[in-house]
Amino acid sequence: MSGKERPWGYRENLHGKNPDWELHPDTESIRAGLSRSGFGETGEALYLSSGFTYSSAEEAVASFADETDHFLYSRFHNPTVAMFEKRLAALEGAELCAATGSGMSAMFTSIACLVSQGDHVVASASMFSSCYVVLSEFLPKWGVTVEFVTGSEKSDWEKALSRPTKAVFIETPSNPMLEIVDIAMVSELAHKVGATVIVDNVMASPILQKPLQHGADVVMYSATKHIDGQGRVLGGAILGSADYINNHFQPFARHTGPNLSAFNAWVLLKSLETIGMRVERMNSNAQAVAEFLASHSKVSAVNYPGLKSHRGYEINARQMSGGGTTLSFEVKGGQSALFAVMNALKVIDISNNLGDSKSLITHPASTTHRRLAPELRAELGINDSLARLSVGLEHSTDLIKDLEQALK
Ligand SMILES: *Cc1c(COP(=O)(O)O)cnc(C)c1O
Repeated sequence: MSGKERPWGYRENLHGKNPDWELHPDTESIRAGLSRSGFGETGEALYLSSGFTYSSAEEAVASFADETDHFLYSRFHNPTVAMFEKRLAALEGAELCAATGSGMSAMFTSIACLVSQGDHVVASASMFSSCYVVLSEFLPKWGVTVEFVTGSEKSDWEKALSRPTKAVFIETPSNPMLEIVDIAMVSELAHKVGATVIVDNVMASPILQKPLQHGADVVMYSATKHIDGQGRVLGGAILGSADYINNHFQPFARHTGPNLSAFNAWVLLKSLETIGMRVERMNSNAQAVAEFLASHSKVSAVNYPGLKSHRGYEINARQMSGGGTTLSFEVKGGQSALFAVMNALKVIDISNNLGDSKSLITHPASTTHRRLAPELRAELGINDSLARLSVGLEHSTDLIKDLEQALK
């Protein structure tokens, strides 16, 4: 659909009764994108259909020539997926959104649709490990050079972005070290050398951080995390300008098929209705848990951008409303002491997922980040006594009591 606007405007939900004021994001996350069928259903319809029919051969021809008012095939578009895309775009404040089957398909496609052999990409080194594998192993295999920098070091960025660059990829806060990258600073440097700035905003969620407002060009999500946030489905999304989605993403994606299933889109649409409440509560729970851990004698370090002791505290306060829902911490006594604490927890589960309503703890060095070389793990600070804790929606007093008894 190169060069064309995606179909189906954002406000069908209001049946022509478009408010003449800007809706609050909490309202957008419930109302935006709803396209009702003739039955006038309250809940969003689930269109489990791979294909669509035409009333005549001529209509099929016209639809292929101008896709703006007819669905063709669910690898390209689907009405339920389109509702999810519109709702998330409204919440993010992006021109367009494209949904994908997982966070990794969003990450991979967001870069793959831009680069060619010989191109240069710059990324901050501290990130989700599968993203690191895509950048450090797959792109170089296809003749793209990828340079990693320390995300918090301005001089590193200045050096790396002193030559033409196609794309910049940053994750802030990063997983699992919660390092902060200054989105506005990096975007300014990147734009001078022609780079498209892509932000993995998974750890922050669309509720706490809006990278496009700080100068980034593209935002990607694993919808599996806070967007679903209830441990049910995998999903992903890419948001950006109409030019990026229509002229870069779509021509690549429609032939490579990273699309989201209609069923998962339907689950995620309902999740968006509660994301604001959920993330705000998880964020305040995480702040309380981080403060408790920081004051505990058996805890040697806490990484949480909502603590004044965090090195990225000030930059984070400028670009994110809160410290987020996830923190990492180290216990005295190394891996065996940490495993004893994890095994003694009675409420918090051991799991490598995050952004869930259930609080989840994991040991990155031996699970999510085990694939990284030991030297790189050491450089990033992912040592054996580090745990990552995704704080959920349980009452914060129970989470603190649970950690307190386990640390004994
Ligand atoms: C989970 C995650 C991803 C990948 O998402 P999936 O839905 O698991 O494919 C990418 N980036 C970050 C920061 C993540 O936490």
